[in-house]
Amino acid sequence: MLDRYNRKINYLRISVTDRCNLRCKYCMPAEGIKLFPHNEILSFDEIVEVIKTGVEMGIDKIRLTGGEPLVRKGIVDLVAMISKIKGLKEITMTTNGILLDKFAQPLADAGLDRVNISLDTLNPEKYHEITRLGDIDKVFAGIEAAKKANLTPVKINCVVMNSSEEEDAKQVRKFCAENNLMVRFIHQMDLNTGKFSIVEGGSGGDCKHCNRLRLTANGKIKPCLFSDMEYDVRELGIEKAYKLALENKPKSGTYNHSGKFYNIGG
Ligand code: SAM
Ligand code: SF4
Repeated sequence: MLDRYNRKINYLRISVTDRCNLRCKYCMPAEGIKLFPHNEILSFDEIVEVIKTGVEMGIDKIRLTGGEPLVRKGIVDLVAMISKIKGLKEITMTTNGILLDKFAQPLADAGLDRVNISLDTLNPEKYHEITRLGDIDKVFAGIEAAKKANLTPVKINCVVMNSSEEEDAKQVRKFCAENNLMVRFIHQMDLNTGKFSIVEGGSGGDCKHCNRLRLTANGKIKPCLFSDMEYDVRELGIEKAYKLALENKPKSGTYNHSGKFYNIGG
């Protein structure tokens, strides 16, 4: 599908939950968040219907994100359901990697193609400080499990404060080079003020070439991360929600006062 600026939209990023087992400083408050009520969260059948309609309209690439997608109960079953949909070229996931050790092989068996794993530093104390809860050894185990399960190329998402030449970023770059991992540097963003920039080594943040729509865990299709616009698939029906998101996809992002990374998915 083409939007009004002639951008080809073929990529749907799906937040499968607003829950998370970490509390990264740049993403969530320490005390956690007010979660969506359970009945607002899309069921697996509903997510599959949204994808099927999307595929009919031109979506061929899916990324599952969150919150932390691996804390959604039955996530492997969801991947298996999605992988049966004809017309999808790629199913990927962005995860913090904490639970990936256990999930990598079952996810690969269910049809997941690749993973992006978030890792901002190699320093265990600093990792714990940034994520407020995380044990970096679990992430390393998750990375190994992903490689072993052939969820490749494994990509590392590294959030930087100011530059990819920061010490932590340099170490992550070296670690990736030595371990056959690809790395993307994401400059810390602020949805409320509209502070964002192009992801180094990735495709995010480049409005001119944006090919994405997003589905929130509570069923809203968003044309842009940096916009308050959203279209409810339950209220409007799936096709109309897509059409409105497509028609209203802004030329470039501005700001987002209503959503957060953990419920839209970064
Ligand atoms: N929980 C999973 C994870 O951390 O990989 C998936 C969801 S998380 C919201 C997706 C990505 O967004 C992660 O790579 C995370 O580092 C990034 N992210 C979160 N808050 C951000 C912010 N304020 N600026 C830039 N990236 C951010
Ligand atoms: Fe959780 Fe990912 Fe946000 Fe960190 S960045 S708090 S892991 S959703």
